[in-house]
Amino acid sequence: MANRRTVIAGNWKMFKTVNEAEDYAVRFLEEVKDVTELDIILCAPFTALYPLKNELEESVVHLGAQNMSWADQGAYTGEISAQMLLDVACTYVILGHSERRELFGETDEEINKKVQKALAAGLTPILCVGENLNVREEGKAVERVRAQVTHALSGLSTEDLSRMVIAYEPIWAIGTGKTASSQDAQDMCAAIRANLTELMGPTAEKVSILYGGSVKAENIAELLTEPDVDGALVGGASLDPLSFAKLIHNAGSVVTRMEGR
Ligand code: PEP
Repeated sequence: MANRRTVIAGNWKMFKTVNEAEDYAVRFLEEVKDVTELDIILCAPFTALYPLKNELEESVVHLGAQNMSWADQGAYTGEISAQMLLDVACTYVILGHSERRELFGETDEEINKKVQKALAAGLTPILCVGENLNVREEGKAVERVRAQVTHALSGLSTEDLSRMVIAYEPIWAIGTGKTASSQDAQDMCAAIRANLTELMGPTAEKVSILYGGSVKAENIAELLTEPDVDGALVGGASLDPLSFAKLIHNAGSVVTRMEGR
């Protein structure tokens, strides 16, 4: 964690009805309403976004979606546009999550189109990259992640990059309870930053790079002490408002301590 804003984003995946989301928002806000030392984002299913817009209005919690279309509008059954997300007060959108890549066949080319569309619309993409276990065991993790980053950023300007968040999520650590060691997380986040520097120069220093994969209240502090880990994308541990709030408070303590306040 350097001179960059720390970001903690929750990814609810395909969990929570409208009622459950509203109930969560009330309980969560009560716990985190005074947190200003880091950015908090909730990435909810599409159906919960509109009710959450009302619950989270003027709060410290930002709203994000988990996917969007590369098209503006039209005959794209089942898709959601950037404009629709803006309409429900989303400011962030997760793009290229490994579950979208692996289960729904999203390609690097589509992800690049989505990143471009999100940026053009004024949304902040949270671009996910990460290798699976085979690739890691073959010693090709850095190569794979660099290729994902390079494809996703194709055609972007340095100004575009400065408005992005990148999340390194090793697939073998997502939802498995296996966290990468904080050194593994640091090594890959540093490799991503080096790749960004090669592609875009010093703007790379401004980009928040998150780690994701079985992050919990118990391991967030250690991860955040690494110089290139600027926050976390949190799946399972974001589903309960009180434990997610605890994780955020633990992260906040590290930020405060490292800023020497
Ligand atoms: C995720 O969904 O992006 C994720 C990292 O999940 P989990 O925290 O459950 O591993």
